Amino acid sequence: MAAQTILVTGGAGYIGSHTCVQLLAAGHDVVVVDNLSNSSTVALDRVADIAGRSVAFHEVDLRDRVALAEVFDDHDVDRVVHFAGLKAVGESVEIPVAYYDNNIVGTVNLLNAMADHEVFDLVFSSSCTVYGEPEVVPITEDAPIGAVSPYGRTKLYIEELLRDAAAADKRWRTVLLRYFNPVGAHPSGTIGEDPTGIPNNLMPYAMQVAIGRLERLRVFGGDYDTPDGTCIRDYIHVVDLADAHLAALGALDRIEGCEAVNVGTGTGSSVLEVVAAASNAVGADIPHDVVDRRPGDVPCVFADTGRAESLLRWSARLDLADMCRDHWNWQRQNPAGYGS
Ligand code: NAD
Ligand code: UDP
Repeated sequence: MAAQTILVTGGAGYIGSHTCVQLLAAGHDVVVVDNLSNSSTVALDRVADIAGRSVAFHEVDLRDRVALAEVFDDHDVDRVVHFAGLKAVGESVEIPVAYYDNNIVGTVNLLNAMADHEVFDLVFSSSCTVYGEPEVVPITEDAPIGAVSPYGRTKLYIEELLRDAAAADKRWRTVLLRYFNPVGAHPSGTIGEDPTGIPNNLMPYAMQVAIGRLERLRVFGGDYDTPDGTCIRDYIHVVDLADAHLAALGALDRIEGCEAVNVGTGTGSSVLEVVAAASNAVGADIPHDVVDRRPGDVPCVFADTGRAESLLRWSARLDLADMCRDHWNWQRQNPAGYGS
């Protein structure tokens, strides 16, 4: 794909910042819109350090229609990657209206601003959470979809919204990227995931135990119907995931309408396998106890990657050892995240 101007919503966040690095490296100009509700401009400074050039940054909330229109007025945007959203499943159960407001209203405003400026090419951050408890693994994109949390429903409804928009107006071309479990960090160790408060996710929790910020990891459930009794997930290195966005932007030229694509490695790893790989990367055992199941966890989830290979011409290159090495490198260099 020739160099373009890509607008990245949520570009200061975990996956967004890694994608900005890959976009800049590929020669694109990048415009970031982020309200910094879950991120900091330090991430964008570090993106510039890695890439040797900066993004154009606008501190704007997607729900602010006027400010968003001004961003489109200021830049000749060709395509959009839409990461901005709230993403904590538990929190979404407590404050569902805030989730619908932020994720759905933000997306509606974005689509209106895009259409007003004749921009119809979009890559959207969806999630494998839209598959709920899959009947069959590996999961193909044609598997039934549904969601069990308000967060998951925002993803589902935005997917439907984008499908409806594309059905009504052939100018819309959209790739819905359904991420599996993003982990890891840029190999420089200067950008990475910086969760606020106590992490909910396995890898950041394990790494905070390793660095001494948390005492012990709890392995949620050892009695699942899996080889070692712990849940299986498809972990994907965030740099591979970032590259999938470049591939999806390129694929927009080859698709019509709206296409959903899984982004995983196609390989499942159990919680205990992740703990072992993380301990290996850290060079010390990560203290852990197997405790009761966490409500809502699904035993086994991993992606069928066939459509990513055929449609995006992309597949993951990095494995679990790479993910743990790079996540640890980031954690070690930034023990308190961007606040270090
Ligand atoms: P993140 O919180 O690090 O990044 C999201 C960014 O969007 C943040 O910088 C935040 O400040 C910004 N933002 C939120 N609401 C906004 C608004 N109304 N206006 C402007 N900016 C806003 O999260 P992430 O892990 O990088 O995830 C990016 C996207 O990928 C999200 O949509 C998330 O739901 C989706 N996703 C993430 C995962 C995961 O495990 N990290 C898995 C599946 C899908
Ligand atoms: N998990 C765990 N301990 C933790 C966090 C997560 O055992 O402190 C398990 C969780 O039960 C699931 C897997 O790790 O089986 C991945 O969980 P995560 O929250 O990272 O991602 P999810 O797949 O739930 O989105």
